[in-house]
Amino acid sequence: MKRPYNFSAGPATMPEAVLQQAAAEMLDWHGSGMGVMEMSHRGKEFISIYEQTEADLRELLAVPANFRILFMQGGALAENAIIPLNLARGGAADFVVTGSWGQKSYQEAGKFCNARLAASTQGNGFTTLPDPASWQLGADSAYVHICSNETIHGVEFHQLPDLKALGCDAPLVVDFSSNVASRPVDWSRVGLAFGGAQKNLGPAGLTLVIVRDDLLGHAVPQCPSAFDYKLVAEAGSMYNTPPTYAIYMAGLVFQWLKAQGGVAAIEAANIAKAQSFYDYLDGSQLYENRVAKDCRSRMNIPFFLRDESRNDAFLAGAKAAGLLQLKGHKSVGGMRASLYNAMPIEGVQALVAYMQEFERTQA
Ligand code: PLP
Repeated sequence: MKRPYNFSAGPATMPEAVLQQAAAEMLDWHGSGMGVMEMSHRGKEFISIYEQTEADLRELLAVPANFRILFMQGGALAENAIIPLNLARGGAADFVVTGSWGQKSYQEAGKFCNARLAASTQGNGFTTLPDPASWQLGADSAYVHICSNETIHGVEFHQLPDLKALGCDAPLVVDFSSNVASRPVDWSRVGLAFGGAQKNLGPAGLTLVIVRDDLLGHAVPQCPSAFDYKLVAEAGSMYNTPPTYAIYMAGLVFQWLKAQGGVAAIEAANIAKAQSFYDYLDGSQLYENRVAKDCRSRMNIPFFLRDESRNDAFLAGAKAAGLLQLKGHKSVGGMRASLYNAMPIEGVQALVAYMQEFERTQA
């Protein structure tokens, strides 16, 4: 049976081969007599899954040895609080706001530290990126926060900022929830990167934190122990029970990614998918994307019908054509196509074919 193409922003489509493997192993993982959900996180079976998953992720993302990989819970939104509790020491941190998720991070961190707005593109509806040379970075900043891909507004940093070149010694904190593993990460520019798993890594419930060694051990005393990066790192992400099944599923995704040729190969595929979709939008009379060309997201592509009264018909027709979850986020409206790693080029082609036909019949 051919499944529909699912353009959800997250939880999002998974590689079909991964879902099939998980289904096949559901009742009995590798002859252990147990499904992964039923295993103790301290048993040798799960530990072997965990170690392989971490090693594969380190290899895929080329994570340097001086960074720790933490598998946590609470989602990216919880990290907005956990990060200042660990890094800010009650002081100040600077936020570059390029969309809703950065805005949320800035607001939440303000409960736990002196959160300052270093730059914002709210004035133009989050359709550009602010020039790093214009960012207001304080000399006393504990960290500088960016969201490398704004899932709702469809704005992506195609290069991480070089804070040192801007005269700033603070570590860069990156919310990479919606473009993790879609492209390589320049770790020389990063202090900490975090994200929920439910877009490119696997099911919801797992939060990934990759943090440089020297940033561990600075949590304020009131930081919950389960969210103290040093304690979590020392316990190998088993300070408390980790999200075992989500880790296992992410591990299967990592193996799938390696089989695709790794992050460089998936990045090339992502570029091709996004380019073909943007080219179509830009050439169309009916649809438009409003994001500046140099910072358009490869992962999440918001678009609008110039005649918005056709929105419901567009969505109904898309669903009938096996193209799911294209409705835009309510704060932006219009449509949004999320083209994560697991979306095959055939899905993009099917979407474009449907959109062409819809445009033709509207003429
Ligand atoms: N940050 C980004 C960039 C996101 O896209 C999302 C969710 O879509 C979040 C944060 C919130 O993540 P969570 O729901 O895992 O807390």
